[in-house]
Amino acid sequence: MSGIKLSAKHGVNPSMSRCIICGGAGNEIILFGRLPGDAEAPRLGPVTSLEPCEKCRKQYLDEGVLLVEMDGTPRDENPTGRIAVLKNEAFNRIFNVPLPPKKIAMIPVEVSDRLGLFHHADNGTLDE
Ligand SMILES: [Zn+2]
Repeated sequence: MSGIKLSAKHGVNPSMSRCIICGGAGNEIILFGRLPGDAEAPRLGPVTSLEPCEKCRKQYLDEGVLLVEMDGTPRDENPTGRIAVLKNEAFNRIFNVPLPPKKIAMIPVEVSDRLGLFHHADNGTLDE
């Protein structure tokens, strides 16, 4: 019936997902089941969603928008791991679009580069 292989030692072997902003416990439970070597899953697992924890949502997204940098092709995009929070007012001024309903916006690397959000230096050029 189920696709999960239980661990004899650790059962469903649960982890908490990690918050994309603070790296603390997120909003989801990950059931690893049996891992190689019957290892115990870490208490905190990977970031599994763009939704931050409740504390971060309250602290940062009441008055701001979470920008998540994405790389890849439109059909296969992945977060680069770089994030930023812009005040609502700054988001409106820079992007000139309505605030996203969940206050989370994904932006392509090219856009964050143009904005200088993360000071990319890996292409060997400085354009100031
Ligand atoms: Zn958090």
